Amino acid sequence: MNDDGLTVEKATANADRDVIVLGIAIAAILLFAALGGRVLPQAIDALVTGGEGPDYLLVNALLLNVALVIFGWRRYRELRAEIDERRRAEEQARKLAEEDPLTGCLNRRSMEATSTTLRQAARANGRALAFCMIDLDNFKRINDLHGHAIGDAVLVDLARRIGAKLPHSARLARLGGDEFGFIVDFDPDQTNHIDGLIACLYAEISRPFVHADLSIDASISIGVASDHDDHGPDPLTGIGTLMQRADIAMYHAKKHGRNRYFWFEPQMATELRDRNALEIGIRAGLAAGEFSPRFEQQVDLDSGRVTGFEMLARWHSETLGDVAPEVFVPLAEDVGVIGELSENLLHEAFVEAGRWHPDLTLAVNISPVQLRDPWFAQGILKMLVEHNFPPHRLEIEITESCLHEDMAMVRATLDSLRNQGVQISIDDFGTGYSSLDQLRSLHFDRIKIDRSFLSELSDPSGNSQILDAIISLGRGLDLQIIVEGVEDEETLGILKEIGGLKAQGYLFGEPETATEVSERLGRSGLLARSATLVQDGDEPRERAFAANAGQSVTRP
Ligand code: C2E
Ligand code: CA
Ligand code: CA
Repeated sequence: MNDDGLTVEKATANADRDVIVLGIAIAAILLFAALGGRVLPQAIDALVTGGEGPDYLLVNALLLNVALVIFGWRRYRELRAEIDERRRAEEQARKLAEEDPLTGCLNRRSMEATSTTLRQAARANGRALAFCMIDLDNFKRINDLHGHAIGDAVLVDLARRIGAKLPHSARLARLGGDEFGFIVDFDPDQTNHIDGLIACLYAEISRPFVHADLSIDASISIGVASDHDDHGPDPLTGIGTLMQRADIAMYHAKKHGRNRYFWFEPQMATELRDRNALEIGIRAGLAAGEFSPRFEQQVDLDSGRVTGFEMLARWHSETLGDVAPEVFVPLAEDVGVIGELSENLLHEAFVEAGRWHPDLTLAVNISPVQLRDPWFAQGILKMLVEHNFPPHRLEIEITESCLHEDMAMVRATLDSLRNQGVQISIDDFGTGYSSLDQLRSLHFDRIKIDRSFLSELSDPSGNSQILDAIISLGRGLDLQIIVEGVEDEETLGILKEIGGLKAQGYLFGEPETATEVSERLGRSGLLARSATLVQDGDEPRERAFAANAGQSVTRP
């Protein structure tokens, strides 16, 4: 039992005793009245007439009685103090049971009880209830960057700001680390009131959180569920269901880019079940070695030679079938297995690429999450040594979103890789936001132009301003340029005309398995064992080009 429990128990025992003391004190006062009524007239009479004083025994009894009354009075005052203390202890115990000690909001347990009561009242008045689940985006990052004291201060401030915007009847709770929830009643015909309230919250949170000279930007994701518009065949049974639905909608908001809100819809629950299956599947798949690398060739358009391959991850799940990288890469990032997944694939890719001609490079995609690991560069260098793979043959592809991360860390990681000779490319260039300053100061080796920019080449006006601009930007910064997603000969022709470019895309072949690549390179004399044979002459590589790239590329 805790201290508060003991205090309450002690106070209760004292109270029992005090009932007896109070009884004695009342009896003493009554006795005092009776005794005083007899002794005092006798004493006054003795003083006035000089007659015989009051009975000796009666006087003693009266004195004893006075002592008892004084004792009773003092005990009464102590009793008052103890009752106050007990009230305070009870209040404290209630607070501990119902409130979150950091923010003073309700806690999860008391929220459920409060919501049930609120719901009954709302029902009786023909009103509906909305439950809003709120989660701070990137709270872990705030904690990691600024420490837990600042993290706590942000939470307290957040609770205060939300609380200030809620109507009087609403109840706010802290449901977990950075998760808050509030319940509010509303007119079921005026759902837009809830939307309005949420808009107010977003406006409130858009102001930075200022603590200890730090200005911290934070955002929130919100999921809303209402008990009015009941989805599905089962009627809403309890407040737990409402909270769960709000949670699913909040999760949906997170998935769709955070800093936004969604009302619960039934298909979200299906998506969540699918996601759970994926989460279970990805862990099992990792353990069972279900992930494998594919290799997509990269071609120098001036010479027509294959210069290397980009490794692309594939997952064939025993239970789920083929899952696209667009689905499993973000999932692996979320569940924290991207590092392990990438490492497994890199080991396989290094083994394969070790068999290729030493001029051929290996490009690998690295997720922003991996760049947050301070040991990332060391891990890569260790693998290079382990596989005896020359660092200059490795190209790390990072996306522009990596540049929104902790820049000092990204810079240190990229610097240590580059110092060892590893090359760095910026992937999907033009789809994110990287400043010219970042491009220059981070010393990238090449940019990969996203395939979305190729569509303007098929424009009958022959307008290719964006592509031209990106190419001249790259050249201005002395960066090599690879164009991604070349699918047709017309595009290829235009790119060849521009000159000085590398390219990759389905026109040159879809990503292949390690065995397919080996066979292809073997046929072209581009395997390591045969490398010495082709060093002096380009002829076998010209053949490789023709074999890899198809007829179209060899056309003048
Ligand atoms: P990405 O790095 O931009 O890779 C190029 C994607 O475009 C690949 O899709 C490739 O198959 C596809 N592609 C190549 N040529 C063409 C073309 O001519 N036309 C079209 N329509 N598509 C083409 P994939 O393999 O599905 O990969 C998608 C994304 O998943 C990759 O985009 C990359 O961002 C990510 N990814 C793949 N493997 C890994 C990995 O091992 N680690 C990490 N972190 N991300 C990976
Ligand atoms: Ca890539
Ligand atoms: Ca790309």
